[in-house]
Amino acid sequence: MSVPIEPHDQRFPVLDPAVLQRARGMLATSASIVAFSGAGLSAESGVPTFRDAATSGLWTRYDPARLASPEGFAADPDLVLAWYADRRRAVARATPNAAHRALAARPDIALVTQNVDDLLERAGCDPTRVVHLHGRIDRDRCHGSCGHEEPIDPAVIVAELRRCPRCGALLRPAVVWFGEALPPEAWERAVAAMHSADTVIVIGTSGAVWPAAGLVDLARSAGAGIVVVNPDADPDDNKDHADIVLRGRAGEVLPALLSGP
Ligand code: NAD
Ligand code: ZN
Repeated sequence: MSVPIEPHDQRFPVLDPAVLQRARGMLATSASIVAFSGAGLSAESGVPTFRDAATSGLWTRYDPARLASPEGFAADPDLVLAWYADRRRAVARATPNAAHRALAARPDIALVTQNVDDLLERAGCDPTRVVHLHGRIDRDRCHGSCGHEEPIDPAVIVAELRRCPRCGALLRPAVVWFGEALPPEAWERAVAAMHSADTVIVIGTSGAVWPAAGLVDLARSAGAGIVVVNPDADPDDNKDHADIVLRGRAGEVLPALLSGP
């Protein structure tokens, strides 16, 4: 499947062809490749990253911990649901970008994402292939302990408190909030993928959110090569201890990195 390459946006660094070639060579000799993604993967689809979000809208007026924590939900559930309704509408409006499509065209690559959007799935990735470490914004789950989970209808997003049909506790977005544990099955699958990876492509993540960020260290300790894709990555600083740093936007870099010879 060929993936169209989008024109270069002059505001971002031009990808160094020699570095790209090195990364392609690394992937060509890797039997097991993992793509580990963060909010930057969906930035070109118009879903704001944490940093963008910090400069506009609700984030400037409210503490993120109040909008995305069990304590915040207990204190003001209507505010939390109103904020999530906004985010859900933004995700529903967004469409997959060239980076999502490039990953969809490579079913051999394991996908571990911190993103709560479903843009990888909508680009055509088999849902069973995508490990969502931080849950999914297009689903609700029981805030009690019964484990009930249900999809929301993206055409009818309402900020309305609803009760779990199984146990009567409140329903809440099926995402991981500050202070909550990651879903054990997703975490186990991610750890297993990192252990067996020959190369991990780290796409659009600031590496600030733990324990997810620790997965890159885990993969490196287990012997994987690390390729970072990020327009803000500084090859001189290289805080990610990457073997190869591809400075550029995911939508430009991934089609060039992952397309056929
Ligand atoms: P972050 O906002 O902390 O960092 C985003 C990173 O993406 C930055 O390093 C930035 O330089 C990079 N970036 C920006 N545009 C890019 C592009 N076009 N291509 C490649 N990289 C680009 O995001 P994070 O590390 O994922 O942590 C934020 C947390 O918030 C995560 O836990 C995630 O679950 C959640 N979140 C999810 C979404 C989503 O689902 N789309 C959006 C915002 C936040
Ligand atoms: Zn319940």
